[in-house]
Amino acid sequence: MSILLVRQSAIKKCANVLCGLEYDLYNDVYQCSCGWLLDIVYKNRPPSSLITRFFERRNHGSNIYNESGVWLFRDLINFVGIDTEDFESCASILVSLDGAEGRLSKPYKMTKAAEYADMNHDSLFLQPEGYNPSGSFKDNGMATALTHAKLLKVKRLVCASTGNTSASAAMYAANEDMECDVYVPKGEIAPGKLGQAFQFGAQVMQVTGTFDDALSISLRKCREDGGYTVNSVNPFRLEGQKTIVYRVMEYLDWNPPDWIVYPGGALGNCSSCGKSLIELYEWGWIKKIPRLLIVNSSGANTLYELANGLFEEIKLSWNGGRPDTELIKRYYSYKDGKGIVPKTTATAIQIGKPANILKALRALDFTRGIVTQVTDKEMSDGMTVVGLNGFDCEMASGSVPAGIRKLRNEETIKKDDVVVGILTGRQKDPTLSVQYHNDASNMYARPPRTE
Ligand SMILES: [Zn+2]
Repeated sequence: MSILLVRQSAIKKCANVLCGLEYDLYNDVYQCSCGWLLDIVYKNRPPSSLITRFFERRNHGSNIYNESGVWLFRDLINFVGIDTEDFESCASILVSLDGAEGRLSKPYKMTKAAEYADMNHDSLFLQPEGYNPSGSFKDNGMATALTHAKLLKVKRLVCASTGNTSASAAMYAANEDMECDVYVPKGEIAPGKLGQAFQFGAQVMQVTGTFDDALSISLRKCREDGGYTVNSVNPFRLEGQKTIVYRVMEYLDWNPPDWIVYPGGALGNCSSCGKSLIELYEWGWIKKIPRLLIVNSSGANTLYELANGLFEEIKLSWNGGRPDTELIKRYYSYKDGKGIVPKTTATAIQIGKPANILKALRALDFTRGIVTQVTDKEMSDGMTVVGLNGFDCEMASGSVPAGIRKLRNEETIKKDDVVVGILTGRQKDPTLSVQYHNDASNMYARPPRTE
């Protein structure tokens, strides 16, 4: 399909450096014939003089594309090739929840979290992406994915979800008057998130099995019945999520922190972080490369085990663009053969077969990144201490302060390193907090009293 209104300023390109096949932007192909996922590659190098323009847009007036924390940076994700200063062009092409995506997201100092993680008060920042309209970071990527879907005149979105993707997809679908089918693992999704999917008018498809099963079913249904997938296999999702990093950089005057920390689930976020840093570095916008810390749940720790050589004593790495994909296959068949499925109360990251694992390896390689793991109990402490700072996050996001604390104990992170942790989602299962505080043995428990 061709778009006559706009100039093509980007292509889709296979992420496999040994392949590098290119694809037209205006179709829904997300996977190369060689099996790897695709990247969006821009033809032009944006000048760093845009930094001034971004700053000026913070005085947004009535322009929702300046108000949006995603589209504020539209010049850096301008795959459509629109005139970014022309409001009418923005309004006709860019999909936005009235400027609300990413609007409340920026790094915040959280003193009690810093004390918990043994960091200097001025060194630790946490960025609550749960304060997006649907309650998670997914809105960043859904804005760009839906922009692409709208160009293709898509009528029906399809996704698999542990809850946050379905909530976000359904919200955007409702706003754009599209249908939305969401495949969720039955009984493995926070009730508040399931409620959102219903509330925003999605068709919920319950799958008996894991998220990994739900994803493979949803992708097959997409192929067989038509529909546009908005899971993070879709490269346009990752383009929007790059703005999480842009907001970090802007807040720090484009002086990169020492570390950026994410929970590890499907690894789309970690991949988009890597891509944004690679591009900023290649464009000459940053000189220093922050290190990426990915925190797995110990109950869903595929990347942790593989990257640290805990399976077959081989460390999985990017290896100059030649990662050992056979090792990953053997790991999955070993787990399948033993009937081992991911299990954690942090359902948002209860994922055993992360779709973006190869791009995440690229991100780890570029940033000299590290993968660690934390227990459910540690994530609960992390979630709770964020609450004590007056911010709300879900248990999966609690992995971020918990992981920083762990690396501080190991002396890998220094007390005065500048660390920015991304709190990916908001609490949508309040029973977790009630349970936590009813158990007096928990670090921050404040059990209820009876008068
Ligand atoms: Zn390829």
